[in-house]
Amino acid sequence: MRKPLVAGNWKMNNPIESSRTLLQKILYNAEMLDSILAKEENACSIDIALFPPSVYLREAQEVLTGSDLHWGTQNVSAYDEGAYTGEISASMIKGFGCDYVLIGHSERRCLYEKLELDQYVLDQIVAEKYAQAISHDLTPIVCIGETKEDYESGKTEQVIARLLDILIEHKGAHSLSKAVLAYEPVWAIGTGHSASPEWAQQVHAFMRARVAAHDKKTAQGLRIIYGGSVKASNAAAIFSKPDVDGGLIGGASLDVEAFTHICFAAALHQK
Ligand code: PEP
Repeated sequence: MRKPLVAGNWKMNNPIESSRTLLQKILYNAEMLDSILAKEENACSIDIALFPPSVYLREAQEVLTGSDLHWGTQNVSAYDEGAYTGEISASMIKGFGCDYVLIGHSERRCLYEKLELDQYVLDQIVAEKYAQAISHDLTPIVCIGETKEDYESGKTEQVIARLLDILIEHKGAHSLSKAVLAYEPVWAIGTGHSASPEWAQQVHAFMRARVAAHDKKTAQGLRIIYGGSVKASNAAAIFSKPDVDGGLIGGASLDVEAFTHICFAAALHQK
C-alpha cells in the first residue's frame, strides 16, 4: 500500500501575514477533511506537506507543530556548512522541524542553465542534494521532468532515466525507499495545461519499472507524484491512475478551496 501525498509548493509567494493565515486555513480544512474522510468508505488517509518560502519556516513550525501536516523547504544545499552564501543546509532545515525537501525543481534548474551547465552536471548536483537530505533524515521529493523540446522530440524517458540512474548509482536503489519522486513535465508547470492522465501514468510506470529493475520491493512502495497544472478540476482523473500516488501542486496550493479539493481527490485513490 502506498499512502498518497499532496505537496503544496508556494514558490516565492505571499507576504508573511497572509502566509500565516494560509497555513492556519489549510490546517483547519485538513482537519475537517479528516473527519469527512472517516465517514467515506473508500477513502484513505493521506500525507500533506507544505513548502512555504524558507523565511516562513518559523511560522510553519508554530502553526503546524502537533498536527498531522508536514512542511519543508523548496531547496537544500549540496554541502554541510561553510562559505556558501545564500544556501541553507539540511541540518538547518531539520532544525525547523521539516520532514521534506524539494530537490531539482525545474524553476531552480533553469537558474543553473543560465550558467550553461549541462543537464548531466545538473543531475549530479541534484544527486548531491539528495544524499544530503537522506543523510539528515529528510524525505527528498525529487523532481524529474522533460522540457517541451525534449517532449516533442521523444526524449522523455531518456531525460528521466538519466537522473534516476545517477541517483541509484550514488546512493543505491534502496535509498529510494526514503524518497518520493515527482514527475513534473516542465511544459506543464504553471502553464494551465497539465499532462493527460494517460501520459502521466505511462511515465510513472516507466519510472517505477526503472527502479524495479534494481529493487522490486523499493519500486512497489515508492511514491511517485505528478506535478504540472494540477487543479481541483483535473486532480481526480490524474490521481485515479495506478502509478500516480498524489501530486506536487504549485499555483493551486495557494487557493485553500482548490487545495482541499485536491487533497480530497487524493484520499479517494489509494494504491
Ligand atoms: C510546481 O511548482 O511544482 C508546479 C507543479 O506548479 P503548478 O501546479 O503551478 O503547475
